[in-house]
Amino acid sequence: MPNIPQSEPSSKPVPVRRLSKSRFLAGLQCHKRLYLEIHSPELATPPTPDRRAIMDMGTDVGVLAREFFPGGVLVEETHRQIPAALSRTAELVLDPTVQAIFEGAFVWQDILVRVDVIERLDATRWRLIEVKATSKVKATHLYDLAIQSAVLEGAGLLVDGCYLMHLNTQYVFLGGALNLEEMFALDNMTDEVQARRERVQPQLEEMWEVLQQPVAPVIEPDGHCQQPYECPFWAHCIKEKSPRWVFHLPGGAKLQNMLIQEGVETIDDIPAHIQLSDIQQHVKANVEWISPLLRARLQSVRYPVHHLDFETFMPAIPVFAHTRPYRPIPFQWSNHIEYEDGTIVHHHYLCVDGRDPREELAHRLLLSLGETGSVCVYSEYERFLLFALGDFLPHLKPALSKVVRRLWDLLSVIQQHYYHPDFQGSFSIKTVLPALVPKLAYDDLTIQNGAVAAVMYQKMVFSETDLMERAHTAQALEEYCGRDTWAMVELRRVLIGRVGGSVL
Ligand code: SF4
Repeated sequence: MPNIPQSEPSSKPVPVRRLSKSRFLAGLQCHKRLYLEIHSPELATPPTPDRRAIMDMGTDVGVLAREFFPGGVLVEETHRQIPAALSRTAELVLDPTVQAIFEGAFVWQDILVRVDVIERLDATRWRLIEVKATSKVKATHLYDLAIQSAVLEGAGLLVDGCYLMHLNTQYVFLGGALNLEEMFALDNMTDEVQARRERVQPQLEEMWEVLQQPVAPVIEPDGHCQQPYECPFWAHCIKEKSPRWVFHLPGGAKLQNMLIQEGVETIDDIPAHIQLSDIQQHVKANVEWISPLLRARLQSVRYPVHHLDFETFMPAIPVFAHTRPYRPIPFQWSNHIEYEDGTIVHHHYLCVDGRDPREELAHRLLLSLGETGSVCVYSEYERFLLFALGDFLPHLKPALSKVVRRLWDLLSVIQQHYYHPDFQGSFSIKTVLPALVPKLAYDDLTIQNGAVAAVMYQKMVFSETDLMERAHTAQALEEYCGRDTWAMVELRRVLIGRVGGSVL
């Protein structure tokens, strides 16, 4: 990533007095990101509701993890009260009766960190623990620990061990109290962190240097913008890119990055000798394509055709017995049934309170699906959920297994047998629907994607007390899930039209 000044919206660089742990990590992803976060934060895309929900879930996991350390004391001062947080932390460090400190504030070389947990081992030694709501250790967590341990030691603490505490997704909650010993995994990452510690100082020096420049460094967007997470300046950095930018080629970052490195700017510029998958070739050709097998595939449905979609939520901390962290819990389904004469009937289910919805949801679903007809879905997700429901409800497993045998995946039919230039390489129903059925999209809905549906559902059943608000959310959820299944009805009709009308 060369640090060459360019004409990026010029900001008057104000003197930067302090970095934080999160800015250090932003700088590791990209120096331009660090620069923009400090000098032009208004260019960032604000977090979406689902992204905010993920962050809240991380906070909840962090709070729960504190129960693991009896005798620990929380530094309650917020990020707006840093001097008070620093002095409170210093007090707690000097108090030998304090066994652990949560959210302690430390500064070294103008780097401020708030540490999830430090645990007192004896009079001088401390253990550093970073809590993550993830299921496994990632490389970025090691740098997270590395910068924290550097600051702690710089601030005068003896750090004897760096640990990552994360969720054990194999833990099965049996109801009652959570078993934190089983739900959390505590991994000793001391050696891995040590290996990164020596790189911290030179990295910091580079970052300070970048921040003193009058303009942001020139760094082209590519795969690094998505690792470890999508950069909030992505929309800003790609705003001048063509819709045919090579990064929009589906099928993996490796090929995209290789093409970008070779100076290939658009999909149209990809040299003929580059081997592309079938889907990539259609994206490159950029014309409508209908497979000779599409008609037969469409004819393979059996009437009445059920069009089924589930909505799910995935709590990091299990809320229902016999679930695991991040286990998807279906709380809603919609089924548009199309009969052979063209009649359409709509059935739907939504759990509107905080009960475990799975048994009632499954019973109602089986009634709605009956014994005959194909069950049209869009992706393999419904198959996975039906299997999971069968495992949880053994008495319904045979009936649910029969439903699985009736599944008919519209997504795979489209991926293998049809392409439209407006897909722009994406087969998401959110892209395919407006391309093929322009009158029907999602932008008129309060809820426009499944992640937001999950957030709204959890708010409705676990925290919303206003009955009107709950009713509005329930309606928005019904409309969203219903749109997904109506979309499948319309998509099948359009595809039938493309192969010459009736497929009966
Ligand atoms: S989008 Fe990419 S290039 Fe732009 S600031 Fe973020 S990481 Fe850097």
